Amino acid sequence: MQERLHMKIHPGLNPPPFSAQVVEINENNIMLSESYCFPRGGGQPGDIGIFIGDNFESNFMETLPGDFIQHPVINSDLFVVDDIISCEIDSISRNKNTKLHTTQHIVSALANDIFDAETVGNQISQEHTRLDLFFPDRDKFSAEILETSFNEIIKTNAAVNIYQWDREKIKSHEKMRHTNFLERIPTSVKNLRVVEIEGIDLCPCGGTHVDNIGLLDNLNIKNVKSKGAGKLRITY
Ligand SMILES: [Zn+2]
Repeated sequence: MQERLHMKIHPGLNPPPFSAQVVEINENNIMLSESYCFPRGGGQPGDIGIFIGDNFESNFMETLPGDFIQHPVINSDLFVVDDIISCEIDSISRNKNTKLHTTQHIVSALANDIFDAETVGNQISQEHTRLDLFFPDRDKFSAEILETSFNEIIKTNAAVNIYQWDREKIKSHEKMRHTNFLERIPTSVKNLRVVEIEGIDLCPCGGTHVDNIGLLDNLNIKNVKSKGAGKLRITY
């Protein structure tokens, strides 16, 4: 699988432009020799942006995962295999997703610490983020307590650190969260990327993050609704 180069750049704000060679055109998807785009995954939307060739410019739509990262375009006839093109990732979109994704780490961690809730789903969209939580006792949930805790904790300006750890270290670390999915990752992958928000969260993650939680906006929970026994969907 093509290396996910976005993971080499931390913090995940204002990604720099890069050049790469077109290696394959599959219908309207452009595949590159290397790509720093984040492909959709884990509830985080893929990057969008613009390709600049010798005599054309072309937007690319949300990048998608695959053996090679797919960059969908409207008109792939503009592209020629082997050509070198420039790629500018849309910083407004990326920065928003990076902040909302980092926010989700903290919301999930606080929901776990305060209400013993497990995160069972999440999705960032243009307008908001939704998070599905499973509670041993969902009557104890308070949106106000979650908001207040979040808005206080971001004032600590805690650092966000990235590590490459092996499976044993990840599985045996007492503070590690969300390790269930490790079994679904091929055993040939020995080291995994771990994201630490100092004193708040520690889990394997391939998303994009700010490097200091003081950069995040206050949490504003807009809606809470039932998603079946023990489950709530919160939207913020
Ligand atoms: Zn993450």
